[in-house]
Amino acid sequence: MISIHDAVDAVLAAARPLSDEEVPLLQALGRAAAGRIVSPEQVPTFANAAMDGFAVAGAELEAGRREFHVVVDIPAGRFVGEAVGPGDAARIMTGAPLPPGVDTVVQVEHTTVSGDAVTVETAPETGANVRPAGEDVAEGDVLFEQGAALGAAEVGLLAAVGIERVRVVRRPRVAILATGSELIPAGRPLQPGQIRNSNSFTAYGQAVAAGADPILLGIARDDPDETRRLLAAALENDVVVTSGGVSVGDYDFVKQVQEELGVQRRFWGIATKPGKPLAFGTRGDTLVFGVPGNPVAAMVSFEMYVRPAILALQGRRDVYRPWFRAAAAEAVGPTKERTEVRRCRLSHVDGRVRFTTTGPQGSGILSSMAGAEALFFVPPHYPGGEPGVELVVMLLAGSATERPPYPGARDVA
Ligand code: AMP
Ligand code: MG
Repeated sequence: MISIHDAVDAVLAAARPLSDEEVPLLQALGRAAAGRIVSPEQVPTFANAAMDGFAVAGAELEAGRREFHVVVDIPAGRFVGEAVGPGDAARIMTGAPLPPGVDTVVQVEHTTVSGDAVTVETAPETGANVRPAGEDVAEGDVLFEQGAALGAAEVGLLAAVGIERVRVVRRPRVAILATGSELIPAGRPLQPGQIRNSNSFTAYGQAVAAGADPILLGIARDDPDETRRLLAAALENDVVVTSGGVSVGDYDFVKQVQEELGVQRRFWGIATKPGKPLAFGTRGDTLVFGVPGNPVAAMVSFEMYVRPAILALQGRRDVYRPWFRAAAAEAVGPTKERTEVRRCRLSHVDGRVRFTTTGPQGSGILSSMAGAEALFFVPPHYPGGEPGVELVVMLLAGSATERPPYPGARDVA
Protein backbone atom coordinates (compact mmCIF):
# COMPACT_ATOMS: atom_id res chain seq x y z
CA MET A 1 0.00 0.00 0.00
CA ILE A 2 1.23 3.49 -0.80
CA SER A 3 0.53 6.81 0.91
CA ILE A 4 -2.04 9.36 -0.22
CA HIS A 5 0.82 11.67 -1.15
CA ASP A 6 2.50 9.07 -3.38
CA ALA A 7 -0.81 8.14 -4.99
CA VAL A 8 -1.62 11.77 -5.84
CA ASP A 9 1.90 12.27 -7.21
CA ALA A 10 1.66 9.12 -9.35
CA VAL A 11 -1.63 10.30 -10.81
CA LEU A 12 -0.38 13.82 -11.52
CA ALA A 13 2.82 12.48 -13.11
CA ALA A 14 0.69 10.61 -15.64
CA ALA A 15 -1.62 13.54 -16.53
CA ARG A 16 -0.48 15.56 -19.55
CA PRO A 17 -2.46 18.66 -20.58
CA LEU A 18 -4.88 18.08 -23.44
CA SER A 19 -5.11 20.03 -26.69
CA ASP A 20 -6.96 23.33 -26.83
CA GLU A 21 -9.77 24.95 -28.77
CA GLU A 22 -11.16 28.44 -29.30
CA VAL A 23 -14.63 29.08 -27.88
CA PRO A 24 -17.00 32.04 -27.47
CA LEU A 25 -16.37 33.77 -24.15
CA LEU A 26 -19.37 32.37 -22.27
CA GLN A 27 -18.38 28.82 -23.16
CA ALA A 28 -15.04 29.43 -21.45
CA LEU A 29 -16.77 29.56 -18.06
CA GLY A 30 -15.40 26.89 -15.76
CA ARG A 31 -12.56 26.06 -18.13
CA ALA A 32 -8.82 26.75 -18.18
CA ALA A 33 -6.95 29.28 -20.34
CA ALA A 34 -4.86 27.43 -22.93
CA GLY A 35 -2.21 30.14 -22.95
CA ARG A 36 -1.32 33.50 -21.49
CA ILE A 37 -4.00 36.14 -22.13
CA VAL A 38 -2.83 39.73 -22.67
CA SER A 39 -5.18 42.69 -22.61
CA PRO A 40 -5.77 44.39 -25.97
CA GLU A 41 -7.36 47.42 -24.28
CA GLN A 42 -7.00 49.53 -21.18
CA VAL A 43 -9.75 49.77 -18.56
CA PRO A 44 -11.13 52.31 -18.13
CA THR A 45 -10.33 53.61 -21.60
CA PHE A 46 -10.78 57.23 -20.48
CA ALA A 47 -10.61 59.13 -17.20
CA ASN A 48 -14.11 59.27 -15.78
CA ALA A 49 -16.14 60.40 -12.82
CA ALA A 50 -16.34 58.01 -9.86
CA MET A 51 -19.21 60.01 -8.34
CA ASP A 52 -22.17 62.09 -9.47
CA GLY A 53 -21.18 65.75 -9.00
CA PHE A 54 -19.31 68.64 -10.57
CA ALA A 55 -16.02 68.37 -12.46
CA VAL A 56 -13.71 71.36 -11.87
CA ALA A 57 -10.03 72.27 -12.07
CA GLY A 58 -8.34 71.16 -8.83
CA ALA A 59 -5.93 74.10 -9.07
CA GLU A 60 -8.90 76.51 -8.73
CA LEU A 61 -10.06 74.78 -5.54
CA GLU A 62 -6.50 74.94 -4.19
CA ALA A 63 -6.44 78.63 -4.96
CA GLY A 64 -9.58 79.05 -2.83
CA ARG A 65 -12.31 79.31 -5.44
CA ARG A 66 -15.66 77.92 -4.29
CA GLU A 67 -18.10 79.38 -6.84
CA PHE A 68 -18.22 77.84 -10.34
CA HIS A 69 -20.38 78.44 -13.36
CA VAL A 70 -22.00 75.27 -14.67
CA VAL A 71 -21.45 75.23 -18.44
CA VAL A 72 -22.20 71.68 -19.52
CA ASP A 73 -24.08 68.51 -18.51
CA ILE A 74 -22.28 65.18 -19.06
CA PRO A 75 -24.24 61.96 -18.53
CA ALA A 76 -22.48 58.58 -18.87
CA GLY A 77 -21.84 57.76 -22.51
CA ARG A 78 -21.50 61.39 -23.69
CA PHE A 79 -18.12 62.66 -24.78
CA VAL A 80 -17.38 66.40 -24.49
CA GLY A 81 -14.27 67.56 -26.41
CA GLU A 82 -14.35 71.29 -25.59
CA ALA A 83 -12.29 72.37 -22.59
CA VAL A 84 -14.03 73.58 -19.44
CA GLY A 85 -12.63 76.95 -18.35
CA PRO A 86 -10.92 77.60 -14.99
CA GLY A 87 -13.95 79.13 -13.27
CA ASP A 88 -16.37 76.74 -14.89
CA ALA A 89 -17.78 73.35 -13.88
CA ALA A 90 -19.30 70.41 -15.72
CA ARG A 91 -22.26 68.68 -14.10
CA ILE A 92 -21.09 65.06 -14.47
CA MET A 93 -22.54 61.64 -13.73
CA THR A 94 -20.72 58.50 -12.55
CA GLY A 95 -18.86 56.84 -15.43
CA ALA A 96 -18.99 59.89 -17.72
CA PRO A 97 -15.68 60.96 -19.31
CA LEU A 98 -14.01 64.07 -17.88
CA PRO A 99 -13.78 66.86 -20.46
CA PRO A 100 -10.45 68.67 -20.99
CA GLY A 101 -9.64 71.39 -18.44
CA VAL A 102 -10.92 69.59 -15.34
CA ASP A 103 -9.35 66.91 -13.17
CA THR A 104 -11.40 66.76 -9.98
CA VAL A 105 -14.99 65.79 -9.17
CA VAL A 106 -16.79 67.40 -6.23
CA GLN A 107 -19.50 64.98 -5.18
CA VAL A 108 -22.99 66.43 -5.44
CA GLU A 109 -23.58 66.04 -1.68
CA HIS A 110 -20.78 68.57 -1.04
CA THR A 111 -22.28 71.31 -3.20
CA THR A 112 -25.25 73.67 -3.30
CA VAL A 113 -26.69 74.63 -6.63
CA SER A 114 -28.51 77.81 -7.52
CA GLY A 115 -29.49 78.26 -11.17
CA ASP A 116 -26.32 77.67 -13.18
CA ALA A 117 -24.01 78.46 -10.28
CA VAL A 118 -22.59 75.80 -7.99
CA THR A 119 -20.98 76.39 -4.61
CA VAL A 120 -18.47 73.91 -3.27
CA GLU A 121 -19.10 73.37 0.47
CA THR A 122 -16.32 70.88 1.08
CA ALA A 123 -13.40 70.98 -1.33
CA PRO A 124 -11.79 67.61 -2.14
CA GLU A 125 -8.13 67.04 -3.01
CA THR A 126 -7.10 67.64 -6.60
CA GLY A 127 -7.81 64.48 -8.60
CA ALA A 128 -10.45 63.24 -6.18
CA ASN A 129 -13.37 61.09 -7.39
CA VAL A 130 -11.77 60.49 -10.78
CA ARG A 131 -10.95 57.04 -12.12
CA PRO A 132 -7.86 57.50 -14.31
CA ALA A 133 -7.56 55.79 -17.69
CA GLY A 134 -5.93 52.35 -17.31
CA GLU A 135 -6.51 52.31 -13.53
CA ASP A 136 -7.84 48.73 -13.62
CA VAL A 137 -6.03 47.23 -16.61
CA ALA A 138 -3.33 48.70 -18.86
CA GLU A 139 -3.08 47.70 -22.50
CA GLY A 140 -0.63 44.78 -22.72
CA ASP A 141 -1.16 43.67 -19.10
CA VAL A 142 -1.06 39.93 -18.58
CA LEU A 143 -4.58 39.09 -17.46
CA PHE A 144 -4.16 35.34 -17.03
CA GLU A 145 -1.39 32.81 -17.30
CA GLN A 146 -1.75 29.46 -19.03
CA GLY A 147 -3.90 27.09 -16.99
CA ALA A 148 -5.81 29.82 -15.15
CA ALA A 149 -9.35 28.83 -14.21
CA LEU A 150 -11.92 31.08 -15.87
CA GLY A 151 -14.80 31.76 -13.49
CA ALA A 152 -17.35 34.56 -13.44
CA ALA A 153 -14.89 37.34 -12.50
CA GLU A 154 -12.31 36.15 -15.04
CA VAL A 155 -14.83 35.94 -17.87
CA GLY A 156 -16.10 39.37 -16.81
CA LEU A 157 -12.60 40.82 -17.02
CA LEU A 158 -12.15 39.37 -20.50
CA ALA A 159 -15.47 40.95 -21.50
CA ALA A 160 -14.30 44.27 -20.03
CA VAL A 161 -11.28 44.34 -22.36
CA GLY A 162 -13.34 43.39 -25.40
CA ILE A 163 -12.25 39.76 -25.78
CA GLU A 164 -15.03 37.73 -27.40
CA ARG A 165 -13.35 34.40 -28.05
CA VAL A 166 -10.80 32.62 -25.94
CA ARG A 167 -8.53 29.58 -26.30
CA VAL A 168 -9.26 27.05 -23.60
CA VAL A 169 -8.14 23.50 -22.98
CA ARG A 170 -10.49 20.84 -24.29
CA ARG A 171 -12.73 19.37 -21.61
CA PRO A 172 -11.41 15.95 -20.52
CA ARG A 173 -13.80 13.19 -21.57
CA VAL A 174 -14.43 10.99 -18.55
CA ALA A 175 -16.03 7.58 -19.16
CA ILE A 176 -17.92 6.28 -16.14
CA LEU A 177 -18.68 2.58 -15.76
CA ALA A 178 -20.33 0.95 -12.76
CA THR A 179 -19.57 -2.71 -12.17
CA GLY A 180 -21.59 -5.17 -10.11
CA SER A 181 -24.19 -7.85 -10.91
CA GLU A 182 -26.28 -6.57 -8.01
CA LEU A 183 -26.77 -3.13 -9.60
CA ILE A 184 -29.87 -2.09 -11.45
CA PRO A 185 -30.41 1.13 -13.36
CA ALA A 186 -32.67 3.85 -12.00
CA GLY A 187 -36.36 3.38 -12.75
CA ARG A 188 -36.51 -0.41 -12.44
CA PRO A 189 -38.11 -2.08 -9.42
CA LEU A 190 -35.62 -3.72 -7.04
CA GLN A 191 -35.58 -7.53 -6.98
CA PRO A 192 -34.31 -9.33 -3.86
CA GLY A 193 -30.54 -8.87 -3.56
CA GLN A 194 -30.37 -5.98 -5.97
CA ILE A 195 -29.28 -2.42 -5.18
CA ARG A 196 -29.53 0.81 -7.06
CA ASN A 197 -26.56 2.26 -8.91
CA SER A 198 -25.56 5.53 -7.25
CA ASN A 199 -21.84 5.64 -8.13
CA SER A 200 -22.51 6.61 -11.74
CA PHE A 201 -24.47 9.62 -10.52
CA THR A 202 -21.94 10.81 -7.96
CA ALA A 203 -19.04 10.36 -10.41
CA TYR A 204 -20.98 12.24 -13.09
CA GLY A 205 -21.53 15.15 -10.71
CA GLN A 206 -17.93 15.19 -9.56
CA ALA A 207 -16.69 15.07 -13.17
CA VAL A 208 -18.88 18.01 -14.21
CA ALA A 209 -17.74 20.01 -11.17
CA ALA A 210 -14.10 19.45 -12.19
CA GLY A 211 -14.74 20.79 -15.71
CA ALA A 212 -14.89 17.40 -17.44
CA ASP A 213 -17.29 16.06 -20.01
CA PRO A 214 -18.66 12.83 -18.47
CA ILE A 215 -19.92 9.89 -20.51
CA LEU A 216 -22.05 7.27 -18.75
CA LEU A 217 -21.35 3.76 -19.98
CA GLY A 218 -23.90 2.07 -17.74
CA ILE A 219 -23.40 -1.03 -15.66
CA ALA A 220 -21.17 -4.04 -16.30
CA ARG A 221 -22.18 -7.26 -14.60
CA ASP A 222 -19.45 -9.11 -12.72
CA ASP A 223 -18.48 -11.05 -15.80
CA PRO A 224 -15.02 -10.74 -17.41
CA ASP A 225 -16.36 -10.62 -20.98
CA GLU A 226 -18.92 -7.93 -20.31
CA THR A 227 -16.44 -5.94 -18.23
CA ARG A 228 -13.84 -6.25 -21.03
CA ARG A 229 -16.29 -5.11 -23.72
CA LEU A 230 -17.40 -2.03 -21.81
CA LEU A 231 -13.94 -1.14 -20.49
CA ALA A 232 -12.53 -1.38 -24.02
CA ALA A 233 -15.04 1.26 -25.13
CA ALA A 234 -14.27 3.37 -22.08
CA LEU A 235 -10.55 3.39 -22.91
CA GLU A 236 -11.21 5.57 -25.95
CA ASN A 237 -11.59 8.53 -23.58
CA ASP A 238 -9.15 10.71 -21.61
CA VAL A 239 -10.12 9.30 -18.23
CA VAL A 240 -11.88 6.10 -17.23
CA VAL A 241 -13.55 5.73 -13.87
CA THR A 242 -14.93 2.29 -13.07
CA SER A 243 -16.46 1.64 -9.68
CA GLY A 244 -16.45 -1.66 -7.85
CA GLY A 245 -14.78 -4.96 -8.57
CA VAL A 246 -11.24 -3.95 -7.53
CA SER A 247 -11.00 -5.79 -4.21
CA VAL A 248 -9.98 -9.38 -3.64
CA GLY A 249 -13.45 -10.93 -3.99
CA ASP A 250 -14.17 -13.88 -6.26
CA TYR A 251 -16.10 -11.64 -8.66
CA ASP A 252 -13.70 -8.70 -8.75
CA PHE A 253 -12.57 -8.71 -12.39
CA VAL A 254 -11.68 -5.08 -12.99
CA LYS A 255 -7.92 -5.31 -12.36
CA GLN A 256 -7.59 -8.46 -14.46
CA VAL A 257 -9.53 -6.90 -17.34
CA GLN A 258 -7.53 -3.66 -17.12
CA GLU A 259 -4.38 -5.73 -17.60
CA GLU A 260 -5.83 -7.76 -20.48
CA LEU A 261 -6.65 -4.51 -22.26
CA GLY A 262 -3.09 -3.22 -21.94
CA VAL A 263 -3.55 -0.87 -19.00
CA GLN A 264 -0.21 -0.41 -17.29
CA ARG A 265 -0.66 -0.63 -13.53
CA ARG A 266 0.75 2.36 -11.62
CA PHE A 267 -0.51 1.34 -8.21
CA TRP A 268 -3.13 -0.72 -6.43
CA GLY A 269 -3.79 -0.05 -2.78
CA ILE A 270 -3.59 3.18 -0.80
CA ALA A 271 -3.22 3.17 2.98
CA THR A 272 -6.51 4.98 3.55
CA LYS A 273 -9.96 4.24 4.83
CA PRO A 274 -12.10 4.48 2.81
CA GLY A 275 -10.48 4.04 -0.61
CA LYS A 276 -7.88 1.33 -0.02
CA PRO A 277 -8.31 -0.88 -3.12
CA LEU A 278 -8.11 1.90 -5.75
CA ALA A 279 -6.37 0.55 -8.88
CA PHE A 280 -4.74 3.19 -11.07
CA GLY A 281 -3.07 2.63 -14.41
CA THR A 282 -2.57 4.18 -17.83
CA ARG A 283 -2.97 3.09 -21.39
CA GLY A 284 -1.28 5.57 -23.69
CA ASP A 285 -2.42 8.95 -22.38
CA THR A 286 -5.66 7.54 -20.92
CA LEU A 287 -5.83 7.58 -17.13
CA VAL A 288 -7.65 4.54 -15.78
CA PHE A 289 -9.09 4.62 -12.27
CA GLY A 290 -10.71 1.59 -10.71
CA VAL A 291 -12.33 3.09 -7.63
CA PRO A 292 -13.89 0.89 -4.95
CA GLY A 293 -17.61 0.25 -5.12
CA ASN A 294 -18.74 1.46 -1.74
CA PRO A 295 -20.44 4.80 -2.46
CA VAL A 296 -18.38 6.87 -0.01
CA ALA A 297 -15.14 5.15 -1.02
CA ALA A 298 -15.96 5.88 -4.67
CA MET A 299 -16.64 9.57 -3.98
CA VAL A 300 -13.66 10.08 -1.71
CA SER A 301 -11.38 8.36 -4.25
CA PHE A 302 -12.71 10.59 -7.01
CA GLU A 303 -12.20 13.67 -4.86
CA MET A 304 -8.67 12.74 -3.80
CA TYR A 305 -7.23 11.36 -7.07
CA VAL A 306 -9.53 11.72 -10.08
CA ARG A 307 -10.33 15.39 -9.54
CA PRO A 308 -6.67 16.52 -9.45
CA ALA A 309 -6.07 14.47 -12.60
CA ILE A 310 -8.98 16.08 -14.44
CA LEU A 311 -7.70 19.53 -13.47
CA ALA A 312 -4.11 18.68 -14.48
CA LEU A 313 -5.38 17.49 -17.89
CA GLN A 314 -6.78 21.01 -18.31
CA GLY A 315 -3.38 22.53 -17.57
CA ARG A 316 -4.51 23.75 -14.16
CA ARG A 317 -1.89 24.20 -11.46
CA ASP A 318 -4.47 24.66 -8.71
CA VAL A 319 -5.30 20.97 -8.71
CA TYR A 320 -5.66 20.66 -4.93
CA ARG A 321 -8.29 21.83 -2.48
CA PRO A 322 -7.84 24.60 0.08
CA TRP A 323 -6.96 23.22 3.50
CA PHE A 324 -6.39 24.45 7.03
CA ARG A 325 -6.02 23.12 10.52
CA ALA A 326 -9.15 23.23 12.64
CA ALA A 327 -10.29 21.98 16.00
CA ALA A 328 -12.68 19.08 16.43
CA ALA A 329 -16.02 20.03 17.94
CA GLU A 330 -16.36 16.50 19.30
CA ALA A 331 -14.11 13.60 20.29
CA VAL A 332 -12.15 12.04 17.39
CA GLY A 333 -12.14 8.26 17.27
CA PRO A 334 -8.88 6.29 16.95
CA THR A 335 -7.48 4.74 13.77
CA LYS A 336 -5.51 1.58 12.98
CA GLU A 337 -2.79 1.33 10.34
CA ARG A 338 -4.58 3.41 7.68
CA THR A 339 -5.17 7.16 7.43
CA GLU A 340 -8.88 7.82 7.78
CA VAL A 341 -10.69 10.35 5.63
CA ARG A 342 -13.87 11.46 7.36
CA ARG A 343 -16.67 13.78 6.28
CA CYS A 344 -17.50 16.91 8.23
CA ARG A 345 -19.31 20.20 8.43
CA LEU A 346 -17.76 23.43 9.66
CA SER A 347 -18.99 25.93 12.21
CA HIS A 348 -17.64 28.77 14.32
CA VAL A 349 -17.34 28.21 18.04
CA ASP A 350 -15.79 31.00 20.16
CA GLY A 351 -14.40 32.62 17.02
CA ARG A 352 -12.61 29.47 15.82
CA VAL A 353 -13.48 27.11 12.99
CA ARG A 354 -14.61 23.75 14.35
CA PHE A 355 -15.43 20.59 12.44
CA THR A 356 -18.14 18.05 13.24
CA THR A 357 -18.59 14.71 11.46
CA THR A 358 -21.66 14.28 9.32
CA GLY A 359 -22.74 11.23 11.32
CA PRO A 360 -21.88 7.55 10.83
CA GLN A 361 -18.74 7.30 8.70
CA GLY A 362 -19.04 3.82 7.18
CA SER A 363 -17.94 3.66 3.53
CA GLY A 364 -21.45 2.65 2.50
CA ILE A 365 -23.14 5.59 4.27
CA LEU A 366 -23.65 7.93 1.32
CA SER A 367 -25.68 10.30 3.49
CA SER A 368 -22.37 11.13 5.24
CA MET A 369 -21.16 12.68 1.95
CA ALA A 370 -24.39 14.56 1.32
CA GLY A 371 -24.06 17.89 3.07
CA ALA A 372 -20.35 17.43 3.85
CA GLU A 373 -18.40 20.66 3.47
CA ALA A 374 -14.98 19.19 4.02
CA LEU A 375 -12.93 16.05 4.63
CA PHE A 376 -10.59 15.73 7.58
CA PHE A 377 -7.65 13.39 7.87
CA VAL A 378 -6.98 11.26 10.91
CA PRO A 379 -3.40 9.92 10.84
CA PRO A 380 -2.66 6.20 11.12
CA HIS A 381 -2.28 4.73 14.64
CA TYR A 382 -4.12 7.70 16.07
CA PRO A 383 -4.99 7.04 19.71
CA GLY A 384 -8.15 9.15 19.58
CA GLY A 385 -8.53 12.79 20.56
CA GLU A 386 -10.58 14.98 22.86
CA PRO A 387 -12.83 17.76 21.54
CA GLY A 388 -10.57 20.67 20.55
CA VAL A 389 -7.84 18.52 19.04
CA GLU A 390 -6.53 20.01 15.76
CA LEU A 391 -6.43 18.09 12.49
CA VAL A 392 -5.99 18.89 8.79
CA VAL A 393 -9.29 19.76 7.13
CA MET A 394 -9.65 19.87 3.34
CA LEU A 395 -12.53 21.83 1.84
CA LEU A 396 -14.78 20.20 -0.73
CA ALA A 397 -14.94 23.48 -2.64
CA GLY A 398 -12.48 25.75 -4.38
CA SER A 399 -9.03 25.00 -5.76
CA ALA A 400 -5.51 25.63 -4.53
CA THR A 401 -1.97 25.21 -5.82
CA GLU A 402 -0.66 24.08 -2.45
CA ARG A 403 -0.86 20.37 -1.73
CA PRO A 404 -2.57 19.60 1.59
CA PRO A 405 -0.28 17.91 4.15
CA TYR A 406 -1.86 14.47 3.84
CA PRO A 407 -1.00 12.37 6.85
CA GLY A 408 0.59 8.98 6.28
CA ALA A 409 4.02 7.83 5.23
CA ARG A 410 5.22 11.14 3.74
CA ASP A 411 3.68 13.73 6.07
CA VAL A 412 2.39 13.27 9.54
CA ALA A 413 0.02 16.01 10.66
P1 AMP B 1 -17.20 -3.82 -4.62
O1 AMP B 1 -16.14 -2.77 -4.54
O2 AMP B 1 -17.57 -4.20 -6.02
O3 AMP B 1 -16.84 -4.99 -3.76
O4 AMP B 1 -18.50 -3.17 -3.98
C1 AMP B 1 -18.49 -2.77 -2.63
C2 AMP B 1 -19.89 -2.37 -2.19
O5 AMP B 1 -20.31 -1.26 -2.95
C3 AMP B 1 -20.93 -3.43 -2.40
O6 AMP B 1 -21.82 -3.39 -1.32
C4 AMP B 1 -21.62 -3.01 -3.67
O7 AMP B 1 -22.92 -3.48 -3.75
C5 AMP B 1 -21.57 -1.50 -3.57
N1 AMP B 1 -21.58 -0.89 -4.88
C6 AMP B 1 -20.81 -1.24 -5.92
N2 AMP B 1 -21.06 -0.48 -6.99
C7 AMP B 1 -22.06 0.37 -6.63
C8 AMP B 1 -22.77 1.40 -7.32
N3 AMP B 1 -22.51 1.67 -8.60
N4 AMP B 1 -23.70 2.08 -6.65
C9 AMP B 1 -23.96 1.79 -5.35
N5 AMP B 1 -23.31 0.84 -4.66
C10 AMP B 1 -22.38 0.13 -5.27
MG1 MG C 1 -18.73 -5.58 -6.86
